[in-house]
Amino acid sequence: MSVESGARDNRPLIDRFGREITYLRVSVTDRCDLRCNYCMPEKMRFLPRADLLTLEELEQLVTAFILRGVRKIRLTGGEPLVRKGIDTLIDRLGEQVASGVLEEITLTTNGTQLARHARRLARAGVKRINVSLDTLNPRKFHEITRRDALADVLRGINAAQAEGIRIKLNTVALKDINEDELPAMIAWAHAQGHDMTLIEIMPMGDVGADRYDQYLPLSEVRAGLEENWTLKPLMMRTGGPARYVEIEETGGKLGFITPLTHNFCDGCNRVRLTCTGQLYMCLGQEDRMDLRAVLRDQGSVAINAALDRAILQKPKGHDFAIDRQAQKPAVLRTMSLTGG
Ligand code: SAM
Ligand code: SF4
Repeated sequence: MSVESGARDNRPLIDRFGREITYLRVSVTDRCDLRCNYCMPEKMRFLPRADLLTLEELEQLVTAFILRGVRKIRLTGGEPLVRKGIDTLIDRLGEQVASGVLEEITLTTNGTQLARHARRLARAGVKRINVSLDTLNPRKFHEITRRDALADVLRGINAAQAEGIRIKLNTVALKDINEDELPAMIAWAHAQGHDMTLIEIMPMGDVGADRYDQYLPLSEVRAGLEENWTLKPLMMRTGGPARYVEIEETGGKLGFITPLTHNFCDGCNRVRLTCTGQLYMCLGQEDRMDLRAVLRDQGSVAINAALDRAILQKPKGHDFAIDRQAQKPAVLRTMSLTGG
């Protein structure tokens, strides 16, 4: 992958509100080997393969973003590690990290395939990853993901850690499901040397479940944790929605992602590219630009102008809400399409 080739256009991507886009999340596939019940229905209809960007197209688009100032890339999905050829893409992005053009390449994974990818990821220069894990109980794991794969995930986490990759666990707080287990999970994660982030459920896609039943406000979780632990707020911000604390008793970091109860959009530095080449300017809005059409119809020379148009469409913020009456998702696409 060369970011030197072609006519260079190095202008930063700055939106109407003065926010500079330096972080790109790329969903490399909509497919997944789990069926988390808050994310997709059991009988999920995946996209026809012809709709997906090829790895070459993905690379072309990512390169255009790097030229325009993107410094961090997170690969996600669907499950990024089920995409054929993903290792090669990661190797090529790793070369950009090694040369200093990119600051970081990372990924969000469910961990089921991690054990056999860990060494290659580490060699490509991946220093940290997010692994999504909502429970340590095999029965609950099956209830949430509809698959029996907890042992694979734990093996994957250990393999990645053994390769020197730092792990952050992402855990969706689910009312009546993992609610009681959260303190034990945090204690376990911190004892293993992993940071953890709790996520509030977001109303994305029609997954055939009542969100209001699953929704557990993190303000409640936090109040519960404070009964036993000392939570010291940390100043660190990532440009994303997480707020972090350090738990004095465990010595570990805990993040809270609360899109429904707080607004975090002022410092947003990110955009999201789906596996079909749709560029979403905001996770919680429908504004998008079809970069696949631009690439396939007009070729790579047209991408820069398309990025300029797209960035000007980035909305000020999202307006997620879980509404018991409306009973409908804030956005119709599932999280597996944009990758969270
Ligand atoms: N398959 C990978 C994984 O699970 O880590 C990457 C994609 S997954 C869509 C990214 C993250 O989004 C996961 O941590 C998952 O728990 C979270 N997620 C999925 N649907 C969600 C929803 N409706 N609300 C909140 N988080 C969600
Ligand atoms: Fe798959 Fe991740 Fe969605 Fe679970 S959250 S179904 S692992 S994409």
